[in-house]
Amino acid sequence: MAAKTRTRKPLAPRACECSWWYTGDVDSETQDVYDEERTGCTATTTREFAPGHDARLKSFLIRAGINGTEVHDGRGLSGSADALAVRFGFYPQVTNGIIRGLAKADQKVFRQQAREARREARRPVTPVADIDTQLDAAFGPVETPEPVAPQSHRAMVRVGRWTYEADVLDGVATYRDRSDRVHSTRTYTYQQAI
Ligand SMILES: [Zn+2]
Repeated sequence: MAAKTRTRKPLAPRACECSWWYTGDVDSETQDVYDEERTGCTATTTREFAPGHDARLKSFLIRAGINGTEVHDGRGLSGSADALAVRFGFYPQVTNGIIRGLAKADQKVFRQQAREARREARRPVTPVADIDTQLDAAFGPVETPEPVAPQSHRAMVRVGRWTYEADVLDGVATYRDRSDRVHSTRTYTYQQAI
């Protein structure tokens, strides 16, 4: 009796694991996917991954994690990249990659802010005199009226029931009453200059 040799039955080739995965917004009613991105894999394999495609899925998940986009495993599960990567042996590398990527992105923002702050600090402050010159250039010089020395003049003013000849200066009328006493008042009716 011939010994029965156990032969491992070759597994039927199936789609590479990484080909299932995608990112994008799924419409919960129609299941349409917007902004879908995939690994681009069309390989089949008798193993879980086509050669090198575990690395491909790993980078795909890291990128999704850094961008904060939801990932879908193609068989009904959706979630953050690090949550869904738990099933793989390379899970620690995914979380590490995401953390490093986020830190790098933070650094980039920080460096950009520092650069802008330095640029701002180097910007020379325009002296006020220059601003005046620039404004004059743009809009023409501002005409400053020559100060007019206040001048008094003689006028007839009415105070109460009487009319007097007065010196009017800055709204104040100075006059002599009938008893030759000098008065200064703002309460009068201007009648006419004389
Ligand atoms: Zn693949």
